[in-house]
Amino acid sequence: MNALKEYIVSFFSGLGSLLTGMGVTIRVFFRKKTTEQYPENRETLQMFDRFRGELTLIHNDRNEHHCIACGICQMNCPNGSIRVISQTLTDEEGKKKRVLDQYIYDIGSCLYCQLCVRSCPHDAITFDTQFEHAVFTRSKLVRQLNHPGSTLEVKPKPVAPKPVVPKAESPKVEKPQGEAPEAAQAE
Ligand code: SF4
Ligand code: SF4
Repeated sequence: MNALKEYIVSFFSGLGSLLTGMGVTIRVFFRKKTTEQYPENRETLQMFDRFRGELTLIHNDRNEHHCIACGICQMNCPNGSIRVISQTLTDEEGKKKRVLDQYIYDIGSCLYCQLCVRSCPHDAITFDTQFEHAVFTRSKLVRQLNHPGSTLEVKPKPVAPKPVVPKAESPKVEKPQGEAPEAAQAE
């Protein structure tokens, strides 16, 4: 009798857990799908903004960047993934100026720590959301980030504000002492 009782209890216990599992399966089946069909969706795939894909030197539409070749990012990189190669040019006034020659980035050794981006005083670099980095040789992971022919963006010098000339005050007319007010004169 006990054996039959145990059989019935375990039968309904198993049936209950089966129905619970089927309930979860049915709920998930009708839920909105979040699975990305990569690479079929490559054209429409949107990465979230905070994703750190690949270090980029920011260029504007005139092929100008903000990098002054100070090398701070290189000094702060813990894995030696950045090499800033500069050259010294002499301008028309005879002043020597250091300019960026090559900005070399090795994505193969990058830790994606973003210390370089945070330490750059000119906001010249950032991480984009590009994530397809697969190549057949490691040498292809070393890239030059400054575009060919790019130059440092020259910001217009601030114009000095015009000096404010104070307006000449009209001279005060002093009333003669001891004169009776007009109202009193009328009386
Ligand atoms: S993210 Fe980190 S490891 Fe990568 S280049 Fe920048 S500082 Fe170096
Ligand atoms: S990217 Fe920024 S920190 Fe690095 S060399 Fe250029 S200006 Fe300096």
